Amino acid sequence: MAIFEDLTTMGHEQVVFCQDKSSGLKAIIAIHDTTLGPALGGCRMWDYKSDEEALRDVLRLSRGMTYKAAVTGLNLGGGKAVILGDPKKIKSEALFRTFGRFIESLGGRYITAEDVNIRVSDIEQVALETAYVSGVTNRAGGSGDPSPVTAWGVYNGIRASVAHKLQKDTLKGVSVAVQGCGAVGSHLVEYLVNDGAKVFVADIDVERVKFNVKQYGAEASQLHEIHKLAVDVYAPCALGGTLNDQTIPEIKAAIVAGAANNQLLDEQVHGSMLKERNILYAPDYVINAGGLINVYQELHGYDAQIAKKKAANIYETLLAIYRDAEEKGITTNQSSNELAEKRLNAVRGMRDLRNTLGTQKWSAKNS
Ligand code: NAD
Repeated sequence: MAIFEDLTTMGHEQVVFCQDKSSGLKAIIAIHDTTLGPALGGCRMWDYKSDEEALRDVLRLSRGMTYKAAVTGLNLGGGKAVILGDPKKIKSEALFRTFGRFIESLGGRYITAEDVNIRVSDIEQVALETAYVSGVTNRAGGSGDPSPVTAWGVYNGIRASVAHKLQKDTLKGVSVAVQGCGAVGSHLVEYLVNDGAKVFVADIDVERVKFNVKQYGAEASQLHEIHKLAVDVYAPCALGGTLNDQTIPEIKAAIVAGAANNQLLDEQVHGSMLKERNILYAPDYVINAGGLINVYQELHGYDAQIAKKKAANIYETLLAIYRDAEEKGITTNQSSNELAEKRLNAVRGMRDLRNTLGTQKWSAKNS
């Protein structure tokens, strides 16, 4: 793998490989961009097939965080971490504390939080070794599990998508297929059902499916069928890459709007394929920004109501992106990228000017 080529193309600032023999920790921390602030992004634990797969995942995820913070108007950079291994086998206090020490060594350039397979209790062990954590328990003044607010943002994003595409101002009678009903997916199912939507669910974990059927009256679907269902909305809420050459031609929904990060296997190719098929795509990092909004609040004194109110603004952000994409004839993911890059470039430009002015002042003083 041409690592530096990938870093240059994607624009990463720093990638840190962390290993510790005694705790068994193998982790990668990727800091994509700190133009707008410290790089904040969750930590994912996954049993990757190869080190290369883990590296690619963390590079893509961290870049997504830069764009997510930029488009959401937060003063944060983009970063992410992955811990390699089976969560059922490798979790231990020593592993999380060691990971915390690696984060501490970065001096605040990276702030961690929960992501797939990482729970609040895990993050609290990381917090024993570093202050650069968010998403700690409510009892300690933290924001706790971000997934309810992420789901609230996704729910509002689905409302915006339905309003734009189907001209409906309510979800009553709207059908939604949720792929992956874990932390975010289950909360989303609850919001959708409470609003009158008909919800289908699929998950590799049968217990998660049973829970959603019993608790919220969702209908169970097969794993390989969920994206093919004849519904209004397909909501990918498991892992990335589920929008690809094979799945896109099979999608019958008019809208794809879900919580998962990196849904498009290839951003350009698959974003265009969805547009060609006249499927409205809610850019993943825009619709799933609720979790980031939630942990950002924690850095400024947590208030759950403010976090929820700000996450609801995803409705307006998405509508603006949909209109812009239509006007310009571009994909919705291109439109959101442009919006994020506009802010990043403006702040970079401001810094360049500040540096120039600083140099001139110094030269005048010393001439
Ligand atoms: P989670 O681990 O709680 O849930 C993921 C669920 O997906 C699990 O129940 C798992 O069994 C299921 N799953 C995995 N592979 C599957 C497959 N092939 N088909 C069907 N189900 C499958 O994770 P989560 O916190 O709910 O996050 C879900 C997604 O949302 C991830 O992509 C994550 O990066 C993204 N996200 C989460 C947050 C958050 O606040 N937790 C914020 C932003 C984005």
